[in-house]
Amino acid sequence: DGRIAGISAAIRVIPDFPKPGILFQDITTLLLDPKAFKDTIDLFVERYKDKDISVVAGIEARGFIFGPPIALAIGAKFVPIRKPNKLPGEVISEEYSLEYGTDKMEMHVGAVQAGERALVIDDLIATGGTLCAAISLLERVGVQVVECACVIELADLKGRDRLGDRPLFVLVSSI
Ligand code: 5GP
Repeated sequence: DGRIAGISAAIRVIPDFPKPGILFQDITTLLLDPKAFKDTIDLFVERYKDKDISVVAGIEARGFIFGPPIALAIGAKFVPIRKPNKLPGEVISEEYSLEYGTDKMEMHVGAVQAGERALVIDDLIATGGTLCAAISLLERVGVQVVECACVIELADLKGRDRLGDRPLFVLVSSI
């Protein structure tokens, strides 16, 4: 698709952020480019509009940027999956491992119902740990994760392999 090159070019790469040795993929420059931002949303909407998806689950924080416009366009609800102690209602939590230590993701109880079909969205997949935690939250309450979608995949980290048989769709693959 000819739109992918423009999306890829609009993503800025910043060395040594947030710490030395990390090559950070910065999507804020994609948001500054209305054509590339719209192409990003359109590509996801074209893929998911006729897939009977009732839930778009977005992962804090950058999944909150891409998820809602997709949800609105395909007629699905948007469910935020958040870092601990941010959601005010009753939550279920899922712990996952980081390079050093662990972190947690939370989702409101009652936001989704068993049997619903969900798309999980984030800006980027690295090791896949974050997406796995989000998938677990949804599957624990009986939701079917139809697919995970990210703007960028850091392919070398093989996060895709951690998702098991849940499909992953990405627009830009980077090393
Ligand atoms: P994972 O759990 O797959 O190792 O890491 C993915 C999570 O970390 C995503 O929520 C993503 O937003 C964030 N992340 C890790 N590296 C980068 C990066 O280079 N750029 C951006 N935008 N997010 C990153």
